[in-house]
Amino acid sequence: MLELLFLLLPVAAAYGWYMGRRSIRLSQNHKSKKLSRDYFTGLNFLLSNESDKAVDLFISMLDVDDETIDTHLSLGSLFRKRGEVDRSIKIHQNLIARPSLTTEQRDLAMMELGKDYMAAGFYDRAEEIFTNLVNQDEHSDEAETQLINIYQITKEWQNAIDITLRLPKKRQQLLKSTTAHFFCQLADEADVETKQIKLLQQAIKQDKNCGRAWLTLAKIYVDQHQFADCKKSLSSLLAADIDLFADGLSYAKQAFEETNDIDGYETMLQKAIEAGAGVSVVVALAESKISHENDSVAEKLMLDSLYRHPTMKGFRHLMNLHITQAEDGQAKQSMAMLGKLVEQQIKFRPSFRCTACGFPSHGLYWHCPSCKEWGSIKRVKGLDGE
Ligand SMILES: [Zn+2]
Repeated sequence: MLELLFLLLPVAAAYGWYMGRRSIRLSQNHKSKKLSRDYFTGLNFLLSNESDKAVDLFISMLDVDDETIDTHLSLGSLFRKRGEVDRSIKIHQNLIARPSLTTEQRDLAMMELGKDYMAAGFYDRAEEIFTNLVNQDEHSDEAETQLINIYQITKEWQNAIDITLRLPKKRQQLLKSTTAHFFCQLADEADVETKQIKLLQQAIKQDKNCGRAWLTLAKIYVDQHQFADCKKSLSSLLAADIDLFADGLSYAKQAFEETNDIDGYETMLQKAIEAGAGVSVVVALAESKISHENDSVAEKLMLDSLYRHPTMKGFRHLMNLHITQAEDGQAKQSMAMLGKLVEQQIKFRPSFRCTACGFPSHGLYWHCPSCKEWGSIKRVKGLDGE
């Protein structure tokens, strides 16, 4: 009889194991049913524009299952993109407060919270978060990019430079033109000209094709009556960024006139035209020819330019030339009126446009107000422009 009881022991163990499994499964089923019911309720709230209730419900579900973390990160990001930053902040702060989060999950939630703060304009809080994340290998690239963005918004150029100069060589190379603009910004803010020159030279060290730095140097030198240095800077500008050469025309005129070097001036303009400078430089050269009583050369210059690149500006200048040469009478008056109409049309059209996003403007901005790109705003080319 006792042996029979021993034989029943494995059966009892198997039964116990089965009952235990059943109870766990039942509990899991119950949890999962509750979870999916809550999700559907939450989605219903979202669809019926009751996002306040949806957020509260989703957050309360956090305590139920760790697997919902990714969903909450996506939800937070969605709210931020919709401009509901207070909600995304709430979601990410609640996530971070969870003690069961792994380091990786916490860093991810911190990155999102930093972006929320950026979107809300709390730059000091965002800066603190990204400064901590810079040392985490997985997030360092994004944290550095975000920090550079913050320092551009807060105009802390030196901080932005410090970050870019710490980047790996490959990324530094990609950002060299931007870094050069940061040095130019610092130069604009410097109160002493020697300091300005030093900063502009650092900009050129970062990016030798930084036309802005060469142009600003030309202006400083012409103001200081250092005409030889001004001419050198303009030559470098011509080689570095031909699109900006037209903006240095007044400095070139002054530097060469003060040194009685009209031939040098005209040679430089001719070189610029051959390198692809627009009609403004052609007009400047034509004006120089006219002032030295060489009207026929000026007219030929304008006509050649108009044949190659027809522009309103070139046309207007040619008309001016003909108006001054014409005898008084009805024809001269009509031409003058036509000239005014063309002039008005030119003034109405934007002279500059961002090559990255197409933002039009009447003045030269170094930083596009629309797409935040550096050095992308150039003079308009074609019939309406250069
Ligand atoms: Zn732009």
